[in-house]
Amino acid sequence: MAVKTIDDMFLSELQDIYHAEKQLTRALPKMAKAASSSDLKQAFESHLEETKGQIERLEKVFELLDKRSRGKKCEAMEGLVEEAKEQMEEIQDPDVLDCALVVAAQKVEHYEIAGYGSLHALAKALGQSEIADLLAETLSEEKAADEKLNKIATSSVNKKAMKKAA
Ligand code: ZN
Ligand code: FE
Ligand code: FE
Ligand code: FE
Repeated sequence: MAVKTIDDMFLSELQDIYHAEKQLTRALPKMAKAASSSDLKQAFESHLEETKGQIERLEKVFELLDKRSRGKKCEAMEGLVEEAKEQMEEIQDPDVLDCALVVAAQKVEHYEIAGYGSLHALAKALGQSEIADLLAETLSEEKAADEKLNKIATSSVNKKAMKKAA
């Protein structure tokens, strides 16, 4: 699709994040499986469920725009997922791997926060208030997911890995 107008650009960015979320529904179960900390495992599992809801929300957005739900390959998410995969293959120590999984997951959340933050602002600027509200809901879930990962890292996962380094 040639991007000429702001509407085209908005749609193209929606397709990008839709594809990014689809990739995450495949990556998060692997990350949950690789995590040793039960809190971290649970965080990935619950964010997987949330992600499925986010995909449905995007499908609602496409519907409101009268467009077909369609993804456009998100190269950035592909790279972030690939980095997580590398860590899972290379890191043997389970506590160190948990730390690395938090790093990888927070990079993902920050990418999503940037995407939904911009899309939310664009939807408002375009006068699409219903779409803006849907995007705001997902944006707050992504922020909460990031915050939860922060808490897991600082309260347990990081400390556990540091203990071993001493
Ligand atoms: Zn996501
Ligand atoms: Fe998401
Ligand atoms: Fe992207
Ligand atoms: Fe997320």
